[in-house]
Amino acid sequence: MPQPAILDFNRQLERDGVPTPAAGIDMDLVRDCIHCGLCLPKCPTFRALHHEGDSPRGRMWQIKEASLGLVGFDDPRFQAHIYQCFNCRACETACPSGVQFGAVMEMARARTPPQNRRDRTVRALLLNGLLPHPRRLQIAGWLYRLARAARIPGLLRRTRAWKVLPLGKFAAFPPVGDMAPGRPALPALTKGLEPRRGRVGLLAGCIQDEMFRGTNRRTALALTSNGYDVVVPSDSVCCGALPSHAGESNTAARLAARTMDTFTGLDVVIVNAAGCGSNMKEYDLQLRNDQQRREAGAAFSRTVRDASEFLIDGGMRAPTRRIQLRVAYQDPCHLVHGQKILRQPRQALKMIPGIELVEMTESDWCCGSAGVYNLTHPEIAEQALGWKVRHIVDSGAQVIASANPGCILQISMGLQRAGHDVPVVHVMDLLGWAYGDETQRPPLVLRAMA
Ligand code: SF4
Ligand code: SF4
Repeated sequence: MPQPAILDFNRQLERDGVPTPAAGIDMDLVRDCIHCGLCLPKCPTFRALHHEGDSPRGRMWQIKEASLGLVGFDDPRFQAHIYQCFNCRACETACPSGVQFGAVMEMARARTPPQNRRDRTVRALLLNGLLPHPRRLQIAGWLYRLARAARIPGLLRRTRAWKVLPLGKFAAFPPVGDMAPGRPALPALTKGLEPRRGRVGLLAGCIQDEMFRGTNRRTALALTSNGYDVVVPSDSVCCGALPSHAGESNTAARLAARTMDTFTGLDVVIVNAAGCGSNMKEYDLQLRNDQQRREAGAAFSRTVRDASEFLIDGGMRAPTRRIQLRVAYQDPCHLVHGQKILRQPRQALKMIPGIELVEMTESDWCCGSAGVYNLTHPEIAEQALGWKVRHIVDSGAQVIASANPGCILQISMGLQRAGHDVPVVHVMDLLGWAYGDETQRPPLVLRAMA
């Protein structure tokens, strides 16, 4: 039996003829969906909300309707289903029809007004007010590290005050990342070890550089240990990933153009944050409305490599320091579904002497971080985080390795709040320590290296 909505839609088309599609939506991409539903079992919001409108098929259908003017982009139900999507792209991996769901969703969001006040606030303060402005970001990072040095997050956790503060659970982040105030920036050029193999650029990032500079340093060490000179442009800005995934297309396009300029003259650009890498590999999409830059965007995207993808595909030199640990790898959505990279991070971990790699159930399911989703839709994000924490505990892993700052923060927070002392680190952290870096090793890693 066809669904009533489909009959309504077809009857309306018969009656009124096919309307002109809305500007900014590529109808060829929308029509790729054949509504087979094979993606539904892989969709976390369909699992959480049990509603066809919150499934990939339902969303593709609604986007088609909105694009043809049969429902308004500002219809509150449409807005809800569009913004309740994690944009995790698990449906792309499941789809037999090659639907580019992430691209369609970003086009649709660019036309869809924010869903609620929380969403508007996050866009105004974070996506447009902070990320595109390096100086403001530096100040925010400095204040954040100062708060950590004053042990304010620990105090919030111990007193449980985070439960009553707005966004308190984020203020109470467990101690991950690089916390020391005033740490030096990465050098503009670090020479690779002999025999040298080439020269690469490294994206320092925005949040990544403020909260995970130690991870950036260890990524650089992994690259130099493999014979690559590492260039880190000092004027590097946010690549536009978070604004783009949220539908802030103008901000995203501006940041994409600036990022391309920053890396002029480099043939390879290494990225260690999955969301950023995925975004930068699709700059032709971000710059779709800029005829002059679109082709340059596609050419730039071909230079972008995830750190583990680049190291493993180029024949990584095995590190020698032993880390005796049982590690599970959590696939960031924008690495496994956005970039189809799942083998290389695991292979990199297996090459570290002493590491036993175990698989956890649903390692490729979204943890609920999803860009700014855990800020705009905390209730649904909590459900996904709960599934993730349960699978991590069941895996018996001592440490979780991932490859995206948002996932590392979100999963650390979930584990810590559930009372589990399991550090969450970046694959490049473990690699960097195995290549000789001695900073910021969690006590468990320190003991495992003794
Ligand atoms: S997105 Fe793909 S898998 Fe899902 S309904 Fe459409 S064609 Fe089928
Ligand atoms: S992107 Fe993720 S949450 Fe959104 S429809 Fe696809 S599978 Fe579901």
